[in-house]
Amino acid sequence: MAKELGYYKEAGIDLNIKEFEYGTDLYSTIKNKEADFAIGRSSILIDRAQGKDIVALGAMFQHSPLMLLVRSDSGISKVKDLKNKRVMITDDAKDTASIVAMLNANDLKLEDIKIQEHSFNLDDLINKKTDAMASYTSNEPIRLQSKNIDYKILHPKDNGFDFYSDILFTSSSFIADNEKLSEAFYDATIKGWEYAFNNIGRSAEIIHNKYNSQNKSLVHLVAEGEILRNLAYHEGSTNIGCLDKNRLQNIINVYKVMGLIDKDIDLDKFIYKHNHHEEILVALYHNDIYLYIVIGILALAGLLSIIFYLSVKTKWLHTRKSLEIEIDNKTHQIEDMTYIDSLTNSMNRRAYNIKIEELLSLYSRYNTVFSIAMLDIDDFKKINDEYGHRVGDNVLINIVLLIKSEIRQNDFLYRIGGEEFVILFAQTSIHEAIIVSEKIRQSVEAELKTIKSKTITVSIGVSEVMQNDTENEIFTRVDRLLYKSKTNGKNQLTY
Ligand code: GH3
Ligand code: MG
Ligand code: MG
Repeated sequence: MAKELGYYKEAGIDLNIKEFEYGTDLYSTIKNKEADFAIGRSSILIDRAQGKDIVALGAMFQHSPLMLLVRSDSGISKVKDLKNKRVMITDDAKDTASIVAMLNANDLKLEDIKIQEHSFNLDDLINKKTDAMASYTSNEPIRLQSKNIDYKILHPKDNGFDFYSDILFTSSSFIADNEKLSEAFYDATIKGWEYAFNNIGRSAEIIHNKYNSQNKSLVHLVAEGEILRNLAYHEGSTNIGCLDKNRLQNIINVYKVMGLIDKDIDLDKFIYKHNHHEEILVALYHNDIYLYIVIGILALAGLLSIIFYLSVKTKWLHTRKSLEIEIDNKTHQIEDMTYIDSLTNSMNRRAYNIKIEELLSLYSRYNTVFSIAMLDIDDFKKINDEYGHRVGDNVLINIVLLIKSEIRQNDFLYRIGGEEFVILFAQTSIHEAIIVSEKIRQSVEAELKTIKSKTITVSIGVSEVMQNDTENEIFTRVDRLLYKSKTNGKNQLTY
């Protein structure tokens, strides 16, 4: 988004994004000046401990999405249940450290499970060729949801192994030679992320159209954005990127007991001086999230085992269930952001005002008929109250995608209020408008679901333009019809 919105350009940076290829050694690309910045995992701490020149600008994700994914019908409900089960993880100890630490902390040695080579094919979990698969909370669960397969996440974070992910880094020598550029790049990047998380719908559309090398659906990308937003902010913080010394030291300690790090790291030099760093009080941090105490390290004949004692206030990472709807790839290219609603990426009330004026004037001059529908989500307050505001936002984003998929070329959708929408059907009589609107009502009822499959419905009013209509009159009329749908029991259409 920083590139798409010109944040880099404004900072005088001509940015070229190179896609990661599996197996690429990121540190080498920095060292050999094939790239100026790279994005790595917490394991760059291991590289740093080996003396490599690495400076971490910021962590784009405060919590790693890496976890073990199991089917609900596998009988596995906790980490200990993995004993003698087939587990797919990569053979890179650096990458899987948090998962192995989680297993060890639950008294499982690698010998106690059947390690399978990672196929990176989710079908192997679906078809029960494996019992647990190393996956990302931001990816595979969304695909299982779309197939209606119940799953459980075994997350290292819930066992006290809370790693950073997607750490933006470069070298100290690069920063020394490019001080201003490094800071400008970092600031523009953070600004891009902030925009992305405040405008998930629009960002998803841009990724879908221009950067979709993994061929994800728009609905998938929106759901992924929601999950990533939760990973990007540390509890109680509004800053993106923070690297906290205490948290980094905890990660180093895990690597140490696993034999991956054998000396300490000067974290003051490892963390970029312009990192939007907030000191998190250790006591507060422990209180807020979980308490954990390292009890002991067990090392026998090359076998390392960690036992972390955990007093876990188990907080399953909320991989918020996305809303499952089919959409087509329609996109609106509208230049002026003042007419776009930033949450849902639909047009806003200001855009509606202009269009209704235009349609009324066409009607009075040439008698060109048009129709209008007004929609209001039923009991939306309850959805917010029960699941939180962000789930509510997700419903709004997804209902817009759904409506856009149902309407035709000459129909225009506007978000005119919190959870109120208007559709203007140009050159359309009321009969056709009713058919399209009723189809939308049925699709919402059938396809839009929140967590625990709670159904979402809308009430609708539909009307056709009349002689001597003003903007006020037509709006009031359709609003009354909507109100009738509400008082008659909601989830219905009145005309
Ligand atoms: P009904 O339509 O059946 O009359 O009930 P309702 O619960 O939907 O009632 P009402 O239309 O009065 O409430 C709308 C609620 O929508 C109130 C507000 O908290 C919520 N809302 C408005 N804008 C947003 C938004 O952008 N995001 C979220 N999550 N909620 C919003
Ligand atoms: Mg409502
Ligand atoms: Mg309302």
